Order: sequence, then structure tokens, then C-alpha cells
Amino acid sequence: MNFIKTLIQNLVSGPSTVSYPFGPAWTPDNFRGRIDFKLASCTACRACEQVCAPGAIRFDKTPEGLRFMMWHNTCVFCGLCEHYCPTDAIRQTTDWHMAHPVKDEFGMAIRETIVYVNCTGCNAKTLSSAPNPVGVEPPFTPEEIEQQRNLCPACRKKALAERGAVS
Ligand code: SF4
Ligand code: SF4
Repeated sequence: MNFIKTLIQNLVSGPSTVSYPFGPAWTPDNFRGRIDFKLASCTACRACEQVCAPGAIRFDKTPEGLRFMMWHNTCVFCGLCEHYCPTDAIRQTTDWHMAHPVKDEFGMAIRETIVYVNCTGCNAKTLSSAPNPVGVEPPFTPEEIEQQRNLCPACRKKALAERGAVS
């Protein structure tokens, strides 16, 4: 008779499943899904590459700059890259719609390049990356971030010292 009780309960409370793909599917806020990378926020510190155990993230030097590559097909969605990124340049979204035909596997990668520029302070060739904000007091203003982006490491340090920042 237990099944009658269960049947009545289900009739009263309604289905506990979702109608996906014919309707929206609930996703937890902290679901660890598709990786998102923001080139403008990346400091080129390569911490994400260091902590990525399966080797889903790789940086390569190219004539244009430092190329970032991330393969979703190799990622185990552990979240370590997001955890160690100092600027939230890499993070996991709640997007889990990643089923794809085998022929599309190379489209499951993120490819970006942090380009070389000439330092606006000394004209040396340097990467146009975001400054690392960790330990910098007072914090960078948006204007300082843009100024630091096109400075070489030595000129960045000098600019920070001139405004009395601790880093
Ligand atoms: S800033 Fe973040 S995304 Fe960029 S190299 Fe460092 S850890 Fe990776
Ligand atoms: S979530 Fe984990 S496996 Fe995936 S790219 Fe980040 S560190 Fe690598």
C-alpha cells in the first residue's frame, strides 16, 4: 500500500524532475562549469598554468606576445585556476551546456594573446598585461591600471614607488 501513499504524495506535490530540454533547468550558484577568461584582467603571472593538474592551461611565447590556451576537453573543473588567479581574470561560470560533436572539439578551447608593446616609460619591449594588485596599497585606480599596463616591470615599480604605494 506504500505505493498508493507515494502516488498521492506525487499527485499533490507535482513532479520533482525538470522538463529540460523543453524548459529551463535549475543550476546551483556555485556550479563549476565552463571557463571564462578576461584578457584585459590577466597579469600574465601564469599561476593558473602552474596549478592546473591536467594541463588544460598553457602559455606559449610567440612573436606577437604570450599566448594563453585553455582546453575544456582536458579540464576537470576543479576550480583551482579561479582560486589562485589574483585578478579574477579566469573563473568558472555556471554554464554546463558543453556537449558537442567530436568534430567540434577544437572549438572547445579559449585562445588569447597578451601582446608585446613598447614600454611608455623606457621604450623597452614588454607585455601589455594588467598589474598584479596583490598587496598594493592604496589599491590601483582604473587610470593607474591602464597606465601600468603599458609599462615594463622596472618602470611599473618606479611608478608605484613615486606614488608611495606598498607592494
Ligand atoms: S592573472 Fe589569472 S588568468 Fe592571468 S596568468 Fe595569472 S592566474 Fe592565469
Ligand atoms: S578548473 Fe582545474 S582543470 Fe580546469 S582549467 Fe582550471 S585548474 Fe585546470
